[in-house]
Amino acid sequence: PPVGTTVLQTVDVAVHYGGIKAVDGIDLTLESGRILGILGPNGSGKSTLLGAITRLVPLTRGRVLLDGGDYSRTPASRLAHRGIARTFQTVRLLPDLTVLENVQLGADLRLDRASRWRELVRRAVSAPVAEAIERTGVGDVLDLRPGELSYGTARRVEIARALAGRPRVLMLDEPTAGMNQPERIEVAALLRRLRDEGLTQLLVEHDVQMMVDTCDRLLAMNQGRHVAEGAPGDVVRDPTVQEAYLGK
Ligand code: ADP
Ligand code: MG
Repeated sequence: PPVGTTVLQTVDVAVHYGGIKAVDGIDLTLESGRILGILGPNGSGKSTLLGAITRLVPLTRGRVLLDGGDYSRTPASRLAHRGIARTFQTVRLLPDLTVLENVQLGADLRLDRASRWRELVRRAVSAPVAEAIERTGVGDVLDLRPGELSYGTARRVEIARALAGRPRVLMLDEPTAGMNQPERIEVAALLRRLRDEGLTQLLVEHDVQMMVDTCDRLLAMNQGRHVAEGAPGDVVRDPTVQEAYLGK
């Protein structure tokens, strides 16, 4: 689809845990080939919102739409087939598998059952897997297990796994948390390259400068609610955002 076409939308999405309104009425739109950033202090509902969009967290209210179709009741396991991939705030790699096997898993999830069997029979490293490994620079650690990796490298393996299925939409929850500065700059550059190739992204990140440099639009949240939205420079200068997020 042309850049700027609506790919994914949330309509009045809410997730309540008893009295805690983790997310409380969020409308957002992901446009094709663009990066939307979600900014907000700790506990403002960013991860819960990503969970709701990726169907891992049940909705209390509202709808999620993909290509205009409601997928509010589609199980999370089906979303990979539809080209939605994500990474988690806390790395979730399978500890007993090697790095290569973990990345391969991301490609396998994208296939339906029949083609998965065909793929298993072929079982060479497929082009998307090789490309994901190359782009994230994890080629030197393919035989290691997650427990043997530095934190920054484990995070890159997670990104590789998400890319291995050649997703149309990629959602990243604090992908550079725990990375050093050169690693963060590298990840930001990778996300921008992927965007320029047409990959639609939703990015949650604490580093405000990285968000301004990387995102096309920002949506700021506080206490589960929308506080500002627009061009990154405008959103970070917004007085409400300054107060809620930057403590000024
Ligand atoms: P963020 O990612 O912006 O730091 P979260 O989405 O993790 O925020 O959390 C938003 C709020 O919801 C917090 O107050 C958090 O404690 C609460 N919360 C998140 N998950 C749960 C849960 N499973 N049960 C109860 N409360 C939760
Ligand atoms: Mg979070």
